Amino acid sequence: MSDCLFCKIVAGDIPSTKVYEDGNVYAFRDINPQAPTHILVVPKTHVASLDDVTAENSALAARCLEAIPKIAAAEGLANGYRVISNVGDDAGQTVRHLHFHILGGRPMGERLV
Ligand code: AMP
Ligand code: ZN
Repeated sequence: MSDCLFCKIVAGDIPSTKVYEDGNVYAFRDINPQAPTHILVVPKTHVASLDDVTAENSALAARCLEAIPKIAAAEGLANGYRVISNVGDDAGQTVRHLHFHILGGRPMGERLV
């Protein structure tokens, strides 16, 4: 999608700090980190959110999930981490390209939100 921020980041048209890449997945540091480690994991192919995952495209999400433990290990998050994917307005999704936040590097607290 030509007007999608994360598609532009995947394409290299907007700079990012890459932490992982394979044929299907790109991961980069969040520009406004909410924890010592805050990484965004996105499929290279545009999917708007988890609300748009179907039997036809769920492999794109699966490739992201497979990348997450590799990234966490490389980042030294052996003590644990949190994964969040915001969906739509009530969740505060600001970028409409499926992404998983990896948050870690400190205890994330008992409260989910
Ligand atoms: P969400 O609110 O779940 O849609 O998350 C979007 C995330 O993208 C936020 O945590 C932003 O800080 C992050 N973000 C926005 N623009 C950029 C950018 N150019 N590079 C890295 N992260 C970004
Ligand atoms: Zn996109």
